[in-house]
Amino acid sequence: MLSRMLRLAVSTLGLAFLVWSGTAGADQRFILDSHIHAGHDNDWVQRLVSIYREHNAMACVLTWMDDFELIKKAAEDYPDVVIPYGRVDPDDPNAVREIEKFYQAGFVGIKFHSPEKNWDDPSYFQMYRLCEYLGLPMLFHTGITSRGMTDKPAKSSTMRMRPGYLDLVARAFPRTMIQGAHFGNPFYDEAAEACRWNPNLFFDITGSTLHKLIKLDDLARFKKILWWSAGEGEETAHTLKGGPDAFEHIVFGTDEQPEGLIGNIERFQKFLDANEVPERLRAKMWGLTIARILDIDPETHQFRRPRPLPPGSHHIFEPGKPGGASDY
Ligand SMILES: [Zn+2]
Repeated sequence: MLSRMLRLAVSTLGLAFLVWSGTAGADQRFILDSHIHAGHDNDWVQRLVSIYREHNAMACVLTWMDDFELIKKAAEDYPDVVIPYGRVDPDDPNAVREIEKFYQAGFVGIKFHSPEKNWDDPSYFQMYRLCEYLGLPMLFHTGITSRGMTDKPAKSSTMRMRPGYLDLVARAFPRTMIQGAHFGNPFYDEAAEACRWNPNLFFDITGSTLHKLIKLDDLARFKKILWWSAGEGEETAHTLKGGPDAFEHIVFGTDEQPEGLIGNIERFQKFLDANEVPERLRAKMWGLTIARILDIDPETHQFRRPRPLPPGSHHIFEPGKPGGASDY
């Protein structure tokens, strides 16, 4: 009798678990935050993990070498949430060596900010080629950059980081993903047109843009600049043949503290609705595009191939079919 009751209890619990986990999977879309900056202590990691797990979300965590150990351990302990990216100063003569160290430790992308020269300056090409060879997507700050209330001189400038400079970077390094941050704010047209012929160029739309356009009631302006659709290249000579829809060049990100995830989800949803983005593109923008490029299974949140990848083995397109990215 006791054992029968026990069996019943166990099977009821099992059923309840199945229903719960089934519901969690079915209801919750997969989210990949392509842009969040690492905090500096374990408390930050715990906040990230608990908030992002609640939303079936993973995060590309941009990490200076100072926080290398913290985020390396976080990625080992919480691989279902933490996708480690390194961050280097592009003008630091040690940048290439730091990229190598990040790569060897299993970091899977690199963030750059505040260059002294324009993003397409050839003196950076050695660094970009290393990232391409090691299969590391590159995330570039683009557009307006913040400045604190300080009298300390700085050499950072919005104009060194115009999104149009990524056009050359994307063409010169076609085997990896190039992501511009903040959709080039305020150079939106330039960012959009740079995407049109570059299937490996993407932008997140983090920062002040969605705040600004919600405040100005002007969110729908993006459908005027992201105007082309997949398949048009078959009919006209003015759109990339085999290329993706315009809106597929946008990927979700937050660029805030972990608690900012919820507000960012709400604003991104408003952005999708205001621009009448087709349903078939939305899951890609929320996370599937980057998951595919990073080789992450959105069901299990695991890398399909162990990291680090063998050098030269990562490619964003089918070999032999450059530009043939029909599943973007
Ligand atoms: Zn950022």
